[in-house]
Amino acid sequence: MTVNSLEALDRRHWVHPVANWAGHEKRGVTVMKSAKGAFITDADGHELIDGFAGLWCVNVGYGHESIVEAAARQMRELPYATGYFSFGSEPTIRLAAKLAELTPGDLDHIYFSLGGSDAVDSALRLIQFYYNVTGRPTKKAILSLERGYHGSSSTGAGVTALPAFHAGFDFPAHVHHYVTPPYAYRNPTGSGDAAVIAASVASLRAKVAELGAENVAAFFCEPVIGSGGVIVPPKGWLRAMRETAAELDILFVADEVITGFGRTGPMFACEAEGVVPDMMTMAKGLTSGYAPLGALAIGETVYRAIADNAPAGGPVGHGYTYSGHPVSAAVALEVLRLYEEGGILANGQRVGAYFEERLATLADHPLVGEVRARGLLAGIELVADKVTKEKLPREAKLPDHLFARGYANGVIFRAFADDIIGLAPPLCCSEAEIDLIISRLRKTLDDVM
Ligand code: PLP
Repeated sequence: MTVNSLEALDRRHWVHPVANWAGHEKRGVTVMKSAKGAFITDADGHELIDGFAGLWCVNVGYGHESIVEAAARQMRELPYATGYFSFGSEPTIRLAAKLAELTPGDLDHIYFSLGGSDAVDSALRLIQFYYNVTGRPTKKAILSLERGYHGSSSTGAGVTALPAFHAGFDFPAHVHHYVTPPYAYRNPTGSGDAAVIAASVASLRAKVAELGAENVAAFFCEPVIGSGGVIVPPKGWLRAMRETAAELDILFVADEVITGFGRTGPMFACEAEGVVPDMMTMAKGLTSGYAPLGALAIGETVYRAIADNAPAGGPVGHGYTYSGHPVSAAVALEVLRLYEEGGILANGQRVGAYFEERLATLADHPLVGEVRARGLLAGIELVADKVTKEKLPREAKLPDHLFARGYANGVIFRAFADDIIGLAPPLCCSEAEIDLIISRLRKTLDDVM
């Protein structure tokens, strides 16, 4: 089939996720064809370095034969086994145990989903269940950070605090997302680390005081905000938020869908601050995008309370046909082996430090207001004026325009609505590949001047 006829079929039939529907009909699809390591090639034969690891997920890089073999072996032997009731399969059991070992503290109970949105949705439903069966049914309000992203399920998209995910939709009234993010660059209360931490802590306290702790269930946050513009908090922020949530008697849920699996250096971002959340969501790097899978890790207190208080004889009625799919689990086990025994986690840590250094060299560019990075997760905030922090003129800031320039220059990144470039190169990158990303980015910035 020629690219042209594929494009026509796409325009007519595929409703793309998070796309501008009318705009997509006009512009058409960009078809990706093949990939290897950190490089991806489109159907026109244009090879690009993938500075965004797919959708911040292909952490181990493309083209690992051992992952393909793990999937094929599992498909041949047992392509599907339900996890419903008390059935299971070997790779899924092994994966649950491995994740219990890797996640911090007593997050020893693993609930599988198909991706991040339904991991968040599982957390939301199980939090409701937990409070209802333990006699605190008024604890319902869910808090999250301004600019936070927690997926697209019907409640989860409400916990998400990005305008595009709200406009035109309705959400349950118990979701509140007015907790101040650690956004030092545009924080009116001051940019020092202590001021940034204090602003978020005070905001969390104020929100709980306003609603009443007896009405608040949980606070969700990303250890580093991703889709909201890669907002990197100062060291100590995550720990302060975790401790404040505990003090206020609300559950603390760390959404590590992006930050998990080495993206910021350690296996999980919570580790860097010795934080043990009550629940942790993960997806993306868990399979590095080779198969769909997400997970919710549940701490001992919540797990035990649900197990001991669930209505006698009845199931905890939450689950999916593909929860703990054996092929995805086999893929995840091999991906985890590559992080550890294959040295990809260690490579990501070494190259992440180099990436931070090289990225900082872009700060002298006239369009760059701020460069933010933690490991291989970064944001570059563009401005028209470095002193006043005035945003770019409309023409330059159109995300499509920035993205298209980068694409033409052979680098993929994400261009967020707020003049922010997002970067998340695969953890397998070499120093030379990081240099290529940086030089192509600089050229792109010059082009949009
Ligand atoms: N949570 C965070 C922090 C995310 O970044 C995402 C996706 O980007 C999600 C949840 C939703 O994950 P998924 O797209 O796999 O449903």
